[in-house]
Amino acid sequence: MTGSEFDLAFFQEKGFMRKQCPKCQRHFWSLGDWPTCGEPPCEEYTFIGNSPMNRKLELHEMREAYLGFFEENGHGRVKRYPIVARWRDDVFFTQASIYDFQPWVLNGVIEPPYNPLTISQTCVRFNDIDNVGKTGRHFTFFEMCAHHAFNKKDGKFIYFKDRTVELCHRFFTERLGTDPGKMRYIEEWWEGGGNAGPCVEVILDGVEVATLVFMMYRDTPDGRKPMDMTVVDTGYGLERMTWVSQGVSSAYEAVFGPVVDWLKGLANVEPDKTVLTEYSKVAGATNMKTAADVRRIRETTAERIGISYEELMKTISPLEDIYVICDHSRALMLMLNDGVVPSNV
Ligand SMILES: [Zn+2]
Repeated sequence: MTGSEFDLAFFQEKGFMRKQCPKCQRHFWSLGDWPTCGEPPCEEYTFIGNSPMNRKLELHEMREAYLGFFEENGHGRVKRYPIVARWRDDVFFTQASIYDFQPWVLNGVIEPPYNPLTISQTCVRFNDIDNVGKTGRHFTFFEMCAHHAFNKKDGKFIYFKDRTVELCHRFFTERLGTDPGKMRYIEEWWEGGGNAGPCVEVILDGVEVATLVFMMYRDTPDGRKPMDMTVVDTGYGLERMTWVSQGVSSAYEAVFGPVVDWLKGLANVEPDKTVLTEYSKVAGATNMKTAADVRRIRETTAERIGISYEELMKTISPLEDIYVICDHSRALMLMLNDGVVPSNV
């Protein structure tokens, strides 16, 4: 026993070790003997050209693998909710799967459609729009795969930390064929929308592939109080999981593959794969905040490959445009479908 919030029976029975990352000081659990927590900047991506999964999946195959796995494990499959969160008056767009169940399920007014449930929720976020196409991993539109469980105070207990981590671990190892020793679970704390609780970040080969949040507290004018209902709020990046399974140079290549190839043909662009791989690795290890960060990624990449900044830009700028076209077209298509009317006011 370690006295940690995550001294789970699952970790104990399987023989997981708890260590402290010497770089970021956070604690993490793993079956493997790793020196750090594995999340950039503590470590870089290692899956490019060397996927840890034994199956290469397209986006729709990964979605089905995910939903199918959780369905087989007792979860009801729920269709995605619209991108416009019409049932809420505090937000416009759906930005995470838990939005579907706020506030009415979480405050106990209505029952969830299933309990537990699984969903792949379409989301749009525009805070990273300037990074799209440039970082190898940012999108304006993405799908968040999730499994949720709602434990009412006086109702039936569904599951909480133990079963959540076990299901996550089994999905990556049994269904996607990842070596169990590669999975790392970082202990963290989560706060958002007036709720809070412990969480684990799930790291695989340098990428955060999922976050498992355990909502237990709510903020009130009198301070933080335990919630009447505890909630399992998970988020698995469908695009990221697809990218890791394919081990290609960027998430855009994995998600938009044939469309990217078609546009490359039209624009007569034939990029050097080494340049793209290094670029994604450097970008993955950089916390993107401003345009200066993009400049820094480019300079570091050029230096690592041993070419000039101008030569690097000759390779990547037409590609970045192609990636942006793919991302923005997909976001627009889904938004128009869900009834968003574009306007310049
Ligand atoms: Zn670390």
